[in-house]
Amino acid sequence: MRQVVIIGSGPAGYTAAIYAARANLEPLVIASSVAFGGELMKTTEVENFPGFPDGIMGPELMMKMQAQAERFGAEIVYDDVTKVELDGDVKRITMGDGTVHEALTVIYATGSEYRKLGLDDETRLSGYGVSWCATCDGAFFKQKKVAVIGGGDSALEEATFLTRFADVVYLVHRRDEMRASAAMQDRARADAKIEFLWNKEVAHIYGDDKVTGIGLVDTVDGSETTLDVTGVFVAIGSDPRTHLIHGQLDLTEAGTVAVEGRSSRTNIAGVFAAGDVVDPTYKQAVTAAGSGTVAALDAEHYLADLDPALLARATGSAVTA
Ligand code: NAP
Repeated sequence: MRQVVIIGSGPAGYTAAIYAARANLEPLVIASSVAFGGELMKTTEVENFPGFPDGIMGPELMMKMQAQAERFGAEIVYDDVTKVELDGDVKRITMGDGTVHEALTVIYATGSEYRKLGLDDETRLSGYGVSWCATCDGAFFKQKKVAVIGGGDSALEEATFLTRFADVVYLVHRRDEMRASAAMQDRARADAKIEFLWNKEVAHIYGDDKVTGIGLVDTVDGSETTLDVTGVFVAIGSDPRTHLIHGQLDLTEAGTVAVEGRSSRTNIAGVFAAGDVVDPTYKQAVTAAGSGTVAALDAEHYLADLDPALLARATGSAVTA
């Protein structure tokens, strides 16, 4: 049995692992079979993580966090959790390969997943022109025309990145003002390859076996237009990844895991949550890292107050009277 199992390997999960490992809690980090490292694995340059004045590539930052956690004794497994049983003193985490890990505490840091437009053709053409990751797929669109959907920082980041490859990047937004930061907006507006299409919603994605265009509806006058593009990058935000804990952990109205005040304590003793899965607002790598710290410290305090016999079962040590 483990003292701490951390589910998730983004900035929250790895920072929790660094703190838990340095506290000699020998945490197990469940890093997922395909999405290990979290969303930063799909980004390019991160310019706002303190300590890197010249910026750092997202994947490199995550590798550094992982190495730092491993240096202090965290163990990483690359598999997906299929079930969690969080009630009681001993939590059970079932893996894709059938392995069951038992733990006294669980830090739930599963992050968030990309939103979809909800169009049938979006799923059908996913991987055939429809993408959620410009860094993964941008190079397939050299000298092509592509559309990026959304008006937040993600959309502008994707659009700016895609100008390295595509001839024209249409930024399609459903309103006439963006919620992206001023710095990102300034950069995108200064880029001659980015063309802004305001007040437009995507009603169709066209193409038999590959994307050939999108159908847009004007949100002001209802007029319909078609845009010839071979790539559609959906960047309309993300939702907390909570499917594993439905019916066990309380959620907020925003769909994030509910925690007590500024702590990471959930409604179940011994279960802590951190990162984007608890954060409907800020969703930054650095705030997720801070939240991972809180979770590790909360887990440490919880373990310190635990029945010594239980703790001895997890550490394999003898109980002293
Ligand atoms: P976001 O800020 O929630 O923006 C989502 C955008 O997609 C909004 O403009 C929204 O339109 C639009 N949208 C949502 N659902 C839609 C739909 N069904 N159809 C069409 N458009 C839709 O999400 P985000 O851009 O992923 O950013 C999330 C957080 O991560 C933010 O806090 C952001 O600052 C942060 N972030 C930071 C960086 C960075 O600092 N480098 C990079 C990426 C993300 P409305 O505006 O009309 O609601």
